[in-house]
Amino acid sequence: MQIIHAKQVLTPNGWQSDLEVTLDASGRIADVGPQRHAPTDRIALLLPALLNLHSHAFQRAMAGLTEARGPDPRDSFWSWRRLMYKFLDQLSPDQVEAIAAQVFMEMLEAGYGAVAEFHYLHHDVGGMPYDNLAEMSERVVSAAMTSGIGLTLLPVQYQYGGCDLRPLNGGQQRFGNDPERFLRLHADAVRAAAAGPTDYTSGLAPHSLRAVDPAGLAAILDQAGSGPVHMHLAEQVAEVNEVLAHLGARPTEWLLDNHNVGQRWCLIHCTQMTEAETAALAKTGAVAGLCPLTESNLGDGIFNGTTYLGQGGTLGFGSDSNVHISLFEELKTLEYSQRLRDLSRAALATEGRSTGRVLFEAAAKGGAQAGGRNSGRIEMGAWADLVGLDDDNQWLCNRQGDAALDSLIFGGGGQSCVRDVWSAGRRVVKEGRHFKRDAIVSNFKTVMRQLETNI
Ligand code: ZN
Repeated sequence: MQIIHAKQVLTPNGWQSDLEVTLDASGRIADVGPQRHAPTDRIALLLPALLNLHSHAFQRAMAGLTEARGPDPRDSFWSWRRLMYKFLDQLSPDQVEAIAAQVFMEMLEAGYGAVAEFHYLHHDVGGMPYDNLAEMSERVVSAAMTSGIGLTLLPVQYQYGGCDLRPLNGGQQRFGNDPERFLRLHADAVRAAAAGPTDYTSGLAPHSLRAVDPAGLAAILDQAGSGPVHMHLAEQVAEVNEVLAHLGARPTEWLLDNHNVGQRWCLIHCTQMTEAETAALAKTGAVAGLCPLTESNLGDGIFNGTTYLGQGGTLGFGSDSNVHISLFEELKTLEYSQRLRDLSRAALATEGRSTGRVLFEAAAKGGAQAGGRNSGRIEMGAWADLVGLDDDNQWLCNRQGDAALDSLIFGGGGQSCVRDVWSAGRRVVKEGRHFKRDAIVSNFKTVMRQLETNI
C-alpha cells in the first residue's frame, strides 16, 4: 500500500487541496480523500500521468540526424528518408529493444505514464519474417517492462507502398504482411502484451489509407477483436491528393463515409483536414491523435484545434517520431500553432479554464480513451498513473491551480519539476530520475555507436 499526501491535486472535480491518494497492490487508486494516515510520499502537485497515444519507438535513434538538405532543393524529406532506410538496413531486435527502453524511460521522466506504441517494424532486414513472427512485438513489450511504462501495443498492418497498390520495396519490406499473415502476427502480439503486467493491453493499427487497401482494411477490422483502432489519417498534402485520386474522396471523408468511426478509433495526424472534416470528425467521438512536435519537425501543417474543440471533439497527444520527448512542449506547441495562425492569444482557453487546463484535461481524457486504458483521472478504480511535481523551484513557486499548470506548460521549465512518476502503481521515477536510468542509457549509447548514421 502506497499513501501519497499532496498539497494540490487535479481531480475530475477540479482542483483540491491536501488530499490523500491511496494505491493498492494491484496498481489501482484505492481511495482519494482527506489526509488520515502516515504517508509514504509527500507531493506538492499531483496530476494524472498521461498516455502518449502515438510512438514509433525506433525512430528515437534518428533524433537530430535528419536536419540537412540534399541535392534537390525541392526535396526537403531527403535526409529523413535516407536515414530511415539506412536504419532499416541495420536494426536488429536487440538494438530495437534497447532504443525502445531508452525512449520509454524518457517518456516516463517527461511525465507520461503509458504509451500506445504504433509498431510496424516486424521483419528481419530484407523482409523475411523472424522464426517467431512476433519477435519485434515481443521486444517492444520487453522494453516496456524494463522501463515500467504502461503499454497499449498496436501491431501495424502495412501492405502496399501507395494507393496504387505498388509492392513494398527496400527497407519497407520489413513492415509488410498480407491480411492473413498480419492476423497471425496480431494474435501473437496480443498474446505477448497480455503476458505482461495486468495493465498491458493491445489494439490494431492499419497504417494508413495508402498502405492498406479498402478490402484489406475491412478484413482486419472484421477479425481483430475489439481493442482500439489507430490509423494515420491526413498528415500531408501529397497524401490527401493520392487518396483523393484513388479512392475518390479525401481521407477523412472516405473514412467517415465507409466505416463506423466512433470512440474505438484514434486518427493520427489530422493536419490536413478541411473545416467541414474537422467538425465531422469531432462529432464521431473518435480521438484526434496530435503530435505537434513531430508535425512541426516534418512541416506537416497545423491542426484546426479551435474548431475541433469548439465542436466538442476529443483529442490526445503523441510523440510520434520521438524527435523530442516533452509532454509539456507538445501541449504548448499545439496552442502556439493556433496563435500563430490566427494572430490570437489563449486560443484554446474557455471561460473558467485556462489554456493549460484545457489542454491537459483534454489530453488526459483523450489519451486514456485512445489507449483503451482506465487512466487519465485521479479517481478510485483507475490505474495509478500519477505524476508528482515539486513546487520549490523557480517555475512553480507559489503557483496554484490553473496557474501552476500554465506555468508547467508555458514557462519552459515544466519537465525539471517532474519528481515522481507512477505507472499502474509502479514507482518508475523518483527525485526526477528513472530507476534504471544508468543501465538503459548505457545500452542505448552502445547501440548508437553500432549504428551507421552517415547519409
Ligand atoms: Zn506515426
